[in-house]
Amino acid sequence: MPNEYEIREYSYYCPKCGNSHFIPYESDELCLVCKTRMIESPHEYCLTEEKLQSDYNEFEQNEQRLFDEVISKSPEFDINFYNSKDSILKQRQQQQEEAIAHGQAILEGRDKGNQFGVECPYCHAANVKKITTASKAVHTAFFGIFSLGRNSKQWHCNHCNSDF
Ligand SMILES: [Zn+2]
Ligand SMILES: [Zn+2]
Repeated sequence: MPNEYEIREYSYYCPKCGNSHFIPYESDELCLVCKTRMIESPHEYCLTEEKLQSDYNEFEQNEQRLFDEVISKSPEFDINFYNSKDSILKQRQQQQEEAIAHGQAILEGRDKGNQFGVECPYCHAANVKKITTASKAVHTAFFGIFSLGRNSKQWHCNHCNSDF
């Protein structure tokens, strides 16, 4: 019977996409990436906090071993999910950050209904998006020199289609 200290350091993994971590999850927690139920790693892949702090390489090797010996052999393992795991995780992180930014906008009294705290000056819709450098470049490529004025605008209103 492992002691409580070790139990806390059990890692969990997703048998479908290979998402794994050492943060204790509730037993009914679903994978952030693919919503599959996370599985507790076999005991030999669990590291105590003490071990983790003494040797970071061991942490990485352990993850690799868990993947090679357990996750990749799981019948549910899906290589497509595994390959897109990092970008999906990034997306989730971004959604979280936007939700936090929106919460901050509310706290600071500049809530306009979106995370930017910005509304369209023409129709007052909150359904705006930031004009990214990439979409500016594409727009300039399509519409040429006459649309350069657009590039000074930072926001696009999805409701009335104005830029401001
Ligand atoms: Zn997963
Ligand atoms: Zn508008």
